[in-house]
Amino acid sequence: MGIGVHIERICVGKQRKQLIMISNYTFARTTTDDRYWNCSKKYSTKCPAKLRFSDSGALLHYELEHNHEPPSYFKTKAGHYVKLS
Ligand SMILES: [Zn+2]
Repeated sequence: MGIGVHIERICVGKQRKQLIMISNYTFARTTTDDRYWNCSKKYSTKCPAKLRFSDSGALLHYELEHNHEPPSYFKTKAGHYVKLS
């Protein structure tokens, strides 16, 4: 790794959808390829934020400039996240 970004992999909702959370913003995997993640709001706000990982899971490249406020999540005692907005 070596890049000072705290990445948290979270599960959201009943479907246990996997997201990556960084500074309260969430990123979703757009395909089955685990290397390519885009902001969860890419399609609703055309947000340019994204993450790129190597095959071994190291963070290679990231853009963390969002054009919207972070979404609201509630973390349950079990460690699951529920989207509030
Ligand atoms: Zn965004």
